[in-house]
Amino acid sequence: MIGFKVQDFGIGCDAKSCTLNPEPFRSIHLRTSTFVLHPSMNSPSGKLVIISGPSGVGKSTVVKQLLQDCELPLCLSVSATTRQPRQGEEEGKDYYFLQLDEFQRRREAGEFLECFEPYGNGIWYGTLRETVATGVTAGEWVILEIEVNGAMEVMKAFSDAITIFILPQSTEQLKEQLAGRGTEDAEATRQRLKRADYELSLKDRYRHHVVNTTVPEAVQEICDILNTYANRPEGEPTV
Ligand code: 5GP
Repeated sequence: MIGFKVQDFGIGCDAKSCTLNPEPFRSIHLRTSTFVLHPSMNSPSGKLVIISGPSGVGKSTVVKQLLQDCELPLCLSVSATTRQPRQGEEEGKDYYFLQLDEFQRRREAGEFLECFEPYGNGIWYGTLRETVATGVTAGEWVILEIEVNGAMEVMKAFSDAITIFILPQSTEQLKEQLAGRGTEDAEATRQRLKRADYELSLKDRYRHHVVNTTVPEAVQEICDILNTYANRPEGEPTV
């Protein structure tokens, strides 16, 4: 196992995001933890699956059901966020809810594979490197349910990640659903509605599109897509 310093991996942070350049490492010794990150991340021992879609499209519901119904060894990468927990959300299950200073400390320590502040309101979200590395090396298919900017950073770094974008049946329906959801205040809803158009404009960056007609149908479709990757050699093109 080779030991590296954080700066060996080209971790770059700016005011909005921080990312990791994975080349050319294969293993990282960072502080007291050892992470093994394969440059492809679709190593024989596990795969990286990115699922995005605009806020309100039902991603979390679909992903939760997918984890229950799909027979593949899927696991969800629990992200960190600085937003307040919603009713019913649990620490360590839905998110790691961090104070901003703790999030920034961990960001500066290079603990995020990617992180982003999507709504320009000071609320950050980030994928913890250790969570992903632990899952992939344990042979799991690690699902990142993340927004498009973070997703594009991960795609740049891990080009054979399996990428899926969940679409609403119609933009109008999405907007109605988001406005009627009641989990955000009026300003946060306005930010999310504005952001939805941007997210939809980037759908073609993803290899697969799934319309969330009904949750069971979307889950089945995603599971079918993932199954096309089972037993494939690394890097083989998609269907
Ligand atoms: P919510 O506040 O509704 O849970 O999430 C808002 C947005 O942040 C969603 O699009 C969700 O997919 C995204 N998100 C959740 N975790 C992460 C993460 O670790 N990184 C990034 N870039 N986006 C995330």
